[in-house]
Amino acid sequence: MTTTVITHIGSLVTNDPAVGEGLLGLVEDAALVLDGDRVAWAGPAAQAPAADRRVDAGGRAVLPGFVDSHSHLVFAGDRTAEFDARMSGQPYRAGGIRTTVAATRAATDAELSANVARYLREALRQGTTTFETKSGYGLTVEDEARALRIAAEHTDEVTYLGAHIVSPDFADDPAAYVDLVTGAMLDACAPHARWVDVFCEKGAFDGDQARAILTAGKAKGLLPRIHANQLSYGPGVQLAVELDAASADHCTHLTDADVDALASGNTVATLLPGAEFSTRAQWPDARRLLDAGVTVALSTDCNPGSSFTSSVPFCIALAVRDMGMTPDEAVWSATAGGAAALRRTDVGRLSAGARADLAFLDAPSPVHLAYRPGVPLVSEVWRAGVRVA
Ligand SMILES: [Zn+2]
Repeated sequence: MTTTVITHIGSLVTNDPAVGEGLLGLVEDAALVLDGDRVAWAGPAAQAPAADRRVDAGGRAVLPGFVDSHSHLVFAGDRTAEFDARMSGQPYRAGGIRTTVAATRAATDAELSANVARYLREALRQGTTTFETKSGYGLTVEDEARALRIAAEHTDEVTYLGAHIVSPDFADDPAAYVDLVTGAMLDACAPHARWVDVFCEKGAFDGDQARAILTAGKAKGLLPRIHANQLSYGPGVQLAVELDAASADHCTHLTDADVDALASGNTVATLLPGAEFSTRAQWPDARRLLDAGVTVALSTDCNPGSSFTSSVPFCIALAVRDMGMTPDEAVWSATAGGAAALRRTDVGRLSAGARADLAFLDAPSPVHLAYRPGVPLVSEVWRAGVRVA
């Protein structure tokens, strides 16, 4: 295996406190040694071991590729008109998903796959090297299984979200739709997915329905995660902790009991500020969660309805500006936090044994991701030891 030393790194985010300083395990004037697709060594440039080839980072900051643990990329069409109307004063409601369901059902496999590839390229250019994506715009046995097969062509982190909303075909009988989601649809989808998810919210699925859906998924070998407490207070967060879900996503409306539950369990709170931005909704209070000792992840929620951004740097800037996170906390949450939300230990860090996923910034420090909002600072991306963007 060819080894590569990347040297003259202005500041290196390792997310490993044994290697560097502070939360980010930061090393100034650093080097990284890669062996094939893995990191073999990280530390001060002056101490770097020899390698077969040498790459000069030119003083740029290097951080782990972003881990975007929440997106909805298998869809067709867009919802420009809905966004335009909402920005003209109409509130967001869960039902807008139906527009995308109709467009997605009408699309060919090739169109859906090309769409996923397009948004993943967009994300990759902005530094995202690991991403999760979900079904949820098919809502029939065939369309949900198709969405997951297509997603699995592009990522290992595939989530069955047949319970995104009650299918319009079952508007008069939601209980029958839950039976389908936990029965024939689950049977068809489980072979293509790692995770099971449910939108636990007024207008979507209540706590009992969400429990039934996640429990059925677990029985089929899927790991639970949940859309919880986005639009209103509700049972989602505590259900996530009770079922040992990897992540409770959104967490915008939390009681003290919700925060206590998250602090006591292994469930990550994944915050998705693109959704609050794009719906002009109340920001999740990251500071409150962090002060309680909760593990926080930051992700895009990229979807055509409520958060049509693939940019993790944009989410970092929002989290620092409006959610009480420090720049270091936001960078950690978008890398190591995302990895925790996917229960992964091989990504979201840059120390020995990690996958060599790197984002280079045209900046000397990761603080610039929040300090220079909207500026395309990610200048080079490597995945598994290979330069990909
Ligand atoms: Zn979502």
